[in-house]
Amino acid sequence: MIPDPVPVRAFLADRHVALAERLAALAARDLAPLPAPADDAAARVAARDLLARLGADGWLDPIGAQDWRGCCITREALGAVSPLADAVFALQGLGTVPLLLADNADLRDRWVPEALAGRAMAAFAMTEPEAGSDVAALRTAARRDGAHYVLTGVKTLISNAGIADFYTVFASTDPAAGSRGISCFLVPADTPGVRFVRAQVLSAPHPLGEIEFADARVPADHRLGAEGRGFVLGLKTLDRLRATVGAAACGMAARALAEALAHARTRRQFGKPLAEFQLVQARIARMATDLTAARLLVYRAAWDADGGAERVTLEAAMAKAFATEAAQRIVDDAVQILGGRGVLADHPVDRLYRAVRALRIYEGTTEIQHLVIAGHLLADGA
Ligand SMILES: Cc1cc2nc3c(=O)[nH]c(=O)nc-3n(C[C@H](O)[C@H](O)[C@H](O)COP(=O)(O)OP(=O)(O)OC[C@H]3O[C@@H](n4cnc5c(N)ncnc54)[C@H](O)[C@@H]3O)c2cc1C
Repeated sequence: MIPDPVPVRAFLADRHVALAERLAALAARDLAPLPAPADDAAARVAARDLLARLGADGWLDPIGAQDWRGCCITREALGAVSPLADAVFALQGLGTVPLLLADNADLRDRWVPEALAGRAMAAFAMTEPEAGSDVAALRTAARRDGAHYVLTGVKTLISNAGIADFYTVFASTDPAAGSRGISCFLVPADTPGVRFVRAQVLSAPHPLGEIEFADARVPADHRLGAEGRGFVLGLKTLDRLRATVGAAACGMAARALAEALAHARTRRQFGKPLAEFQLVQARIARMATDLTAARLLVYRAAWDADGGAERVTLEAAMAKAFATEAAQRIVDDAVQILGGRGVLADHPVDRLYRAVRALRIYEGTTEIQHLVIAGHLLADGA
């Protein structure tokens, strides 16, 4: 049910192959039997429950170890069997990695062990109503007031909004300085002035919503990194995690391909299995080839990051853009092979169809990844 590590073995250490085997058991035993949450409220409860399970059994450890290939192996497996569990893992990474990268040891010691044990749910609050792709346009302000900062502003499309225990928040400490005026803060969810405004309900189970900071006071030592360096910290975080988005997409695509293959072998029309029709075979061949290419890009980027590269911006952008676009096509192809069954709401392939779409958007849209890639090539004079 989960992707085979063999095609990407060249990029993996033995511990990653062992991790994939343990994840296969987790997927089959604990995750596959879970029912899909009936609505957004149920998804929120299920997300907290999944976090507790993942944390208690050590599945979040690759985040703490900054083992990016381990994170990719995990997201591939979770994406294949439970996109909600994958989202839980993803957000725990996104909200916690800024703490790992910044040099605020007290804050790291206070929150990271809790986050990795699944007892504290993380969230990453960057997007605003007027600042999506254009992060530098964000308007949430953090005004220094003695030993505190006072945060005001609204964040939208925030995963885990309303259920997180802490938010990694990007806010401007110097609005005139644009991206160089953005700082990053750790804001506990129970800080007075932090308000969950509303849920934003997705077509796939995924807790999402809007939060407001209404004069929320946080101690000055809750700033992560230097003043004005929040944008760079955010980019470094995304650099490391974008390949893992590609990995989740590959997991979903691999599951869709497996479902399509099983169906093509058994479904008979015109007196023979679908698998014997060359048009179906061509579709399957394209799906499998695209998936393998996507996985190679994903694990190449993660391998570079694990090798200690300071930035893997180009590799991560290629991996995320290609893998998420390919996964969308592969899942759509699987629906086509399934025919009418593929659009029934309780079919795994239909659930994947709804889940995979957002991956082309969050952590930087495909268009933004393409701008990053072209920017690198043009700057290098290639
Ligand atoms: C499921 C989900 C979970 C999310 N979770 C989080 C989260 O936890 N934290 C968080 O901070 N944010 C989160 N987001 C928000 C996400 O990061 C943004 O949606 C994304 O960055 C795009 O911003 P936008 O939606 O405002 O679109 P816009 O920036 O308005 O873009 C709209 C379209 O215009 C295109 N576009 C924009 N600029 C250009 C350009 N220069 N050239 C070409 N095309 C362009 C985009 O590619 C896109 O196709 C989440 C989003 C989703 C869907």
